[in-house]
Amino acid sequence: MAASTPPFPTITVHYGSLSPAPECIWERGLSYGEMSVKVIKQGQKPESRVYRGACRTCHTEIEFERHEAKYNVDQRDGDYLSIRCPTCSSDILVAA
Ligand SMILES: [Zn+2]
Repeated sequence: MAASTPPFPTITVHYGSLSPAPECIWERGLSYGEMSVKVIKQGQKPESRVYRGACRTCHTEIEFERHEAKYNVDQRDGDYLSIRCPTCSSDILVAA
């Protein structure tokens, strides 16, 4: 029985996503278009930051990304995010 050809290793680059770029790509000095910035530590886009909150009305606990909630600016008490509770539709407020 002939050995099957091993699958060609594929590298999936999620450009612009949260996934860290494969090290080998950066070590080879490849760049994306005009971009030649070297990523030392992959951060997280602000709108994709994950928050957790709990509903004060029904105690449902949720986890959501920042872009899913409404961002509210409050200079006195600090900015906060508001998102509708999936269980009772109350507003869940989480410090931004
Ligand atoms: Zn609720």
